[in-house]
Amino acid sequence: MNAFKPMENNTNSNYDGIYDIIIAGAGCSGLSLLYSILSTPVLNNQKILLIDRSFDKSNDRTWCFWEAEAGIFESLICKKWDRISVHKNSFSRTLPTDPFIYKMINGLDFYNHVLNFAKQFANVYWQEANITSIDKDAENAIVHWEGGMAKGKKVFSSLLPIDQLYSISQKSTDTPFLWQHFKGHLVEFDSNVFDANVARLMDFNVDQKGATGFMYVLPLTNRKALVEYTLFSKTILQPADYTVEINIYLEKHFPNVNYEILHEEMGAIPMTTRSFAKSSPPIYVIGTLGNAVKSSTGYAFHFIQEQVKQIVTSLVNEKEVQTEIHNTRHQFYDAVLLYILYYDLMDGSEIFKRIFEKNKATTIFKFLSNTSTIWEDFRIMRSLPTRTFLPAAIKVLFRRG
Ligand SMILES: Cc1cc2nc3c(=O)[nH]c(=O)nc-3n(C[C@H](O)[C@H](O)[C@H](O)COP(=O)(O)OP(=O)(O)OC[C@H]3O[C@@H](n4cnc5c(N)ncnc54)[C@H](O)[C@@H]3O)c2cc1C
Repeated sequence: MNAFKPMENNTNSNYDGIYDIIIAGAGCSGLSLLYSILSTPVLNNQKILLIDRSFDKSNDRTWCFWEAEAGIFESLICKKWDRISVHKNSFSRTLPTDPFIYKMINGLDFYNHVLNFAKQFANVYWQEANITSIDKDAENAIVHWEGGMAKGKKVFSSLLPIDQLYSISQKSTDTPFLWQHFKGHLVEFDSNVFDANVARLMDFNVDQKGATGFMYVLPLTNRKALVEYTLFSKTILQPADYTVEINIYLEKHFPNVNYEILHEEMGAIPMTTRSFAKSSPPIYVIGTLGNAVKSSTGYAFHFIQEQVKQIVTSLVNEKEVQTEIHNTRHQFYDAVLLYILYYDLMDGSEIFKRIFEKNKATTIFKFLSNTSTIWEDFRIMRSLPTRTFLPAAIKVLFRRG
């Protein structure tokens, strides 16, 4: 597909007023917000400025998430699974996900879909620039970039520079910070090797590297799959280190079968309950910057959609915008799990194995979506050793920072 080109007559230089909304960052959260605003009749005439350092997007990530119903991006789903599996040593379990479906979207399909939709709106303006700062005067927020600035009644920012993230990760506080980091190869074999109906969520039969490591295998067909070596740990690896583990895994499972690497992706997602930034009206933080990532799993796509729904509801009702989404009870569970992983109090592989051994996928998905009932929480917790989790919970409850 051709690179997206903002409409020339709708660049920021053609408008010198104050925007109703500025969206700083056209990634997952910025574009999800834009799409939702433009799909809402009472909001879709707002003057909106979208800023990103580049609108020439690449397929830099694939998003997976689960839903029980068709979502707003249903037309973009490139693969669905209704079964998942988890493996550790001789333990191997395949679970039906009903009523949830595990779904995948290619990043580039998402970017193109939203940008092409937005291009039809004359009230959406574009600025391709590197934003240097966002501040505010008495009434408005001001976004500055090299060679320009714009004012907005509200600014939604998802700008979280990776170096800022690293420095947050290095800060010594009582609140653990881990990385979920991975490299994935989209591979195609020359014969049928995968069961395309089952997403292999976690295969712990890989080098744990002194942390929690697993292979994540998402078969798109019987020959083609995204195979990702993933670690939850304090530091990230060199790209070649992930490749070694993927090669070992493929050779072990499919010896002497030829395959080709079609695409690669890499990522490092923060796993922490530390706050990166707080919304301060009229500047609101969204996405990873706005703590939309579920800290115990690294899943964010679903939570970004929830955050966007919450924001759009506030805009429609002209209420103060709230960007916080992780409710306290589930965030507390996340914090306890992170504490245990960070201080190495129990093997992550053993924790996840026990959870998947003793619970239905539905209960686990609800728990991980922050929508489980207390009774369902209790069933998950019953799978785990009280002697490890109770002292960790007490520590988390009484810590500072
Ligand atoms: C490879 C990868 C795979 C992932 N897979 C999943 C998954 O399967 N499921 C899931 O739930 N989550 C997944 N995530 C986590 C999460 O969903 C994504 O990181 C998501 O893209 C976060 O959205 P965001 O809007 O916060 O940030 P981004 O999508 O990164 O958007 C930020 C935008 O801001 C722009 N920008 C940054 N700084 C500036 C600046 N100074 N000036 C101008 N523009 C700027 C960037 O160009 C970018 O477009 C994945 C993450 C990665 C990296």
